[in-house]
Amino acid sequence: MEGNGQDLEPSQTQTVKKVPAPKFPCLRCKKNVTKNSKSVKCNTCQFWVHVECEGISVELFNILAHPEKYGGTGFSWNCGSCLASAARLEVVVKAFEGRIQQVETRMEKTDGAVKDLDKKVESLSDKLSRRDENIDRRVKQAESSVLDEVREREARRTNVVVHKLKEMEDERATGKERQNGMCQDLRCIETVAQE
Ligand SMILES: [Zn+2]
Ligand SMILES: [Zn+2]
Repeated sequence: MEGNGQDLEPSQTQTVKKVPAPKFPCLRCKKNVTKNSKSVKCNTCQFWVHVECEGISVELFNILAHPEKYGGTGFSWNCGSCLASAARLEVVVKAFEGRIQQVETRMEKTDGAVKDLDKKVESLSDKLSRRDENIDRRVKQAESSVLDEVREREARRTNVVVHKLKEMEDERATGKERQNGMCQDLRCIETVAQE
């Protein structure tokens, strides 16, 4: 119905009762979309719009209203603003896809670099373990040569003690013989002390 409210003078509108908000407001004219009015529903925003408000042709309305006549079970329709939003979204999605591609490429490069580093670390640890083995071998060689040295010194010391024992046993030796024996012992001790 036309002419209710809008045609009244401003002074008269103040007295008019508040009209409740339309249940199905048209996307364009905001008036209620009734069962009998030729209208279509947007598949995205779910709002109704009068065909004349959106500029939908009679042919298109017939296809949307009776899809079975055109070999379909239902056609979806999207309003102008949803289509514009979809187009904007598509641009954003494409930009995102480009960024994702870049990140993936970078990750592949990083993966390669990490694998190279792994190889280097592996070869370094091999070298280190070989060096450790060398050091162990050298330390063992040094230990055994020190032990040999100690044993040798111990053997020389025992020789000195044996000499002394022999001297003390020989009670009947002459003064000259005893002197010679003691001199020999002293030389033995000297040799040990010098080492
Ligand atoms: Zn409308
Ligand atoms: Zn819409």
